[in-house]
Amino acid sequence: MGYVDELMEVVKAKNPSEIEFHQAVEEVAESVALVYDRHPEYRNAKVFERIIEPERVLMFRVPWMDDQGEIHVNRGFRIEMNSAIGPYKGGLRFHPSVNLGILKFLAFEQVFKNSLTSLPMGGGKGGSDFDPKGKSDNEVMRFCQSFMNELFRHIGPNTDVPAGDIGVGGREIGFLFGQYKKLRNEFTGVLTGKGLNWGGSLIRPEATGYGAVYLAAEMLTTRNETLEGKICLVSGSGNVAQYTVEKILELGGKPVTLSDSSGYVYDEEGIDRDKLKFVMDLKNVRRGRIKEYVDQYKNAVYTPVDASLDYSPLWNNKAQCAFPSATQNEINEKDAKNLLNNGVYVVSEGANMPTTIEGVKQFLEAGILYGPGKAANAGGVAVSGLEMSQNSMRLPWTREEVDERLHIIMKNIHKTCVEVAERFGTPGNYVNGANIGGFLKVADSMLDQGLV
Ligand code: NDP
Repeated sequence: MGYVDELMEVVKAKNPSEIEFHQAVEEVAESVALVYDRHPEYRNAKVFERIIEPERVLMFRVPWMDDQGEIHVNRGFRIEMNSAIGPYKGGLRFHPSVNLGILKFLAFEQVFKNSLTSLPMGGGKGGSDFDPKGKSDNEVMRFCQSFMNELFRHIGPNTDVPAGDIGVGGREIGFLFGQYKKLRNEFTGVLTGKGLNWGGSLIRPEATGYGAVYLAAEMLTTRNETLEGKICLVSGSGNVAQYTVEKILELGGKPVTLSDSSGYVYDEEGIDRDKLKFVMDLKNVRRGRIKEYVDQYKNAVYTPVDASLDYSPLWNNKAQCAFPSATQNEINEKDAKNLLNNGVYVVSEGANMPTTIEGVKQFLEAGILYGPGKAANAGGVAVSGLEMSQNSMRLPWTREEVDERLHIIMKNIHKTCVEVAERFGTPGNYVNGANIGGFLKVADSMLDQGLV
């Protein structure tokens, strides 16, 4: 049995039913095996075996009362995965699907992603199985306060700095920050994604989507091409999807789709700035569903989710680029084949692990420009890192300054991926480039710091 199979047997036995975590570990293990072959010092120190075990897992009760006076009990989590290169850093996800395995996969991915940004941030992730959909602002506030009533004792600006993710945007970060400040009696950069008036950074809301498009543009330069005129499929319609569309438009591309968990819209004429403004209002203010897009724009077509299908029709449209920006495993093997058959040769993952292992194999075998989430969506946490810097200095940077830094970070991530992939004998393979590039810095730091 090879290294990866042996390792995965142990991982599965030790972490039963955490299927997303198994998937994330297996994908990175394939890359780390290349490192272990050349550098036995990492193998002997069992560095990867240490990385896959969280430094700490917190799980707690979150009781709250709805507007009718009924009591609900949710489960809260924080996974403090790795602090070798900085305080734990990573988002909070509020979604009914949240469980230990999903958050461990996200925390694990975060370790490598944060390392790739070149900023001093360890990896963490947290959240709850709470569903903010359909809840009033007061209910969301009471939930966030109850969540923070426990989380506050485990986090801090030099210990663990959470941010947003699915279901956690500016509104939730505000309620969480307010409660932290009340409990600790200190005003500090303990969360990122804060409002501009109270310590937030310009460009943080935009950063993940912008970054995913910057990476796509960078990948295209290796073929002397740009995004100009390219048709782009985008999934999701939340934070990442919205700013992905905005940056695609800025760079001359044509986004034609958006989705939510109920279905997707296809707009052959392209989703332009006005239409994007409508979507932002629909999703961020009115908190409506994406199907309302076709009530406003009659030429667009809405296709509801059909659970009996074994593929997603969104990925079966003609295009050159795809930006999955909703959730994990939204592109399976069949979807990947459909994308390739429809002419897609650039995939930049705004979402975390949106492609299954079989789907990734399709992209790698086809030799397309495939930017995995760890690299492609690192812009979000990178600007979170810049928010931490501004909080420490107590000095805000301008929009242009932050965007410029984000752009440089994404270019450097691209460069690291290309160079490392080549160094380890797999040129053009951004999966190996991102996994190994992220791994080496963390691994070397762990070796420096001894067996802790
Ligand atoms: P949002 O909550 O703002 O938006 C999520 C979008 O994805 C919504 O349109 C939502 O639809 C859809 N979605 C969520 N879950 C599912 C599901 N199970 N099936 C189908 N659609 C779903 O989240 P973000 O935009 O912040 O996050 C999107 C992705 O990007 C996630 O994978 C996240 O981990 C990743 N990411 C986010 C970063 C950030 O800075 N925000 C940073 C790096 C990665 P609906 O409203 O119907 O649920």
